[in-house]
Amino acid sequence: MEAKEWKETLLMEKKNGYDRMPAGEREAMETYCQGYKAFMNAARTERECVREGIRLAEEKGFRAYERGMKLKAGDRVYRNNRDKMLLLAVIGQKSLAEGVQIAAAHIDSPRLDLKPSPLYEDSELAYLKTHYYGGIRKYQWVTVPLEIHGVVALKDGKSVDVVIGEGDEPKLVVNDLLPHLAGEQRKKTLDEGIAGEQLNILAGSEPMEGEEKDRVKLAVMKRLYEKYGFTEADFISAELEAVPAARAMDIGLDASMVGAYGQDDRVCGYAALKALLDLGEIPGRTAVCVLADKEEIGSVGVSGMNTKAFDTFMEDLCDSQDVPVRACLEKSFCLSADVTAAYDPNFGDAYEKRNASFLNYGVGLCKYTGSRGKSGASDASAELVAYVRRIFDDSGVIWQMAELGRVDAGGGGTVAGFMANRNIDTLDAGVPVLAMHAPFEVTAKLDCYMAYKGMAAVYRN
Ligand code: MN
Ligand code: MN
Repeated sequence: MEAKEWKETLLMEKKNGYDRMPAGEREAMETYCQGYKAFMNAARTERECVREGIRLAEEKGFRAYERGMKLKAGDRVYRNNRDKMLLLAVIGQKSLAEGVQIAAAHIDSPRLDLKPSPLYEDSELAYLKTHYYGGIRKYQWVTVPLEIHGVVALKDGKSVDVVIGEGDEPKLVVNDLLPHLAGEQRKKTLDEGIAGEQLNILAGSEPMEGEEKDRVKLAVMKRLYEKYGFTEADFISAELEAVPAARAMDIGLDASMVGAYGQDDRVCGYAALKALLDLGEIPGRTAVCVLADKEEIGSVGVSGMNTKAFDTFMEDLCDSQDVPVRACLEKSFCLSADVTAAYDPNFGDAYEKRNASFLNYGVGLCKYTGSRGKSGASDASAELVAYVRRIFDDSGVIWQMAELGRVDAGGGGTVAGFMANRNIDTLDAGVPVLAMHAPFEVTAKLDCYMAYKGMAAVYRN
């Protein structure tokens, strides 16, 4: 190695992405982020992500894949798993026996779910009780305007889509205590300041005429019935999610960042989806995009990454070429596309600066996640990290090496382990996020765009 070469490499890895990105890419980055923000505004829940994903995919020639369908190179197919998980594939030129290139992201995000019996009245105010979903810091979810999105399944088999608070419609909110009376509350830890059972959503205050008891609650229920046609008992078979009302927007005087709810992990979900839809030529190996549900509560259930629905989809694809699925998976590669923690100088102590990811330094590769001695991590092999370095560099992807935070500061997991368990070589990579899991998260446009370029590089290789 020439002395010059090793020096250049050192500098390269410590350079801000804006010093490395060709000037001609600025416009493509901006256009990409416009599309990303539109997606975020259209898709506030996992169900809405699936619906919007299918709409975008069908526009680009994808069709629903049924078992037994004949497939040829270039075919574009998707499978909708119960409206909450979306699997898509572009069939490659090579046999599935050569393996597939997978990008797997999750489309569920932390939020407040309504309880099965949510509506009640107290002191002539109507409230909805919630059970939070995912790892939230409860104090962040008070005094934030909320909407409710979801579905109510009626006993007759019909389902009603519910969107409360969109556009100019009235919003909902969880209140906090005024500082003047917070003498006791302020002595509590951040964790204890707002309790789970205090995350009750204010839903109404006007009493219904002619009633004696629970007049405000009745007025709220009447409105719901008139607008959506469901009754109080129907809450029992509903999935109603309170999500922040704020739209996706540019952040910073230079508009270099995106602020939105649910960027963990829709920022990677959109990148994985968009890169697949935009695939120009027919790839060598088949390209697969997975948008999974339930990552935030352990990738559980029939729509989480542990589901056999993924294996079934892969088996169906393999059956069409008479290839054993196990032979396909052992030669496959998966980029577990999930966000990482961006270094925040306001909370520098939580990070180890030499190994942290930074805004505008590109998509972050994470060899391992986990906590307390990498526990729970899938820990990709050195060879696999080298492979991704190579394909990213060859495709002009700006990337950085990332660790989630200071050793023993905490930790987290992704879908990587569940893919690796299937005998698929898997590496974590994703967009660095500020204030992850907060009702409003921040990413850098450059990193969002580089995630998209990274996914495209995976599909093409
Ligand atoms: Mn995530
Ligand atoms: Mn998360």
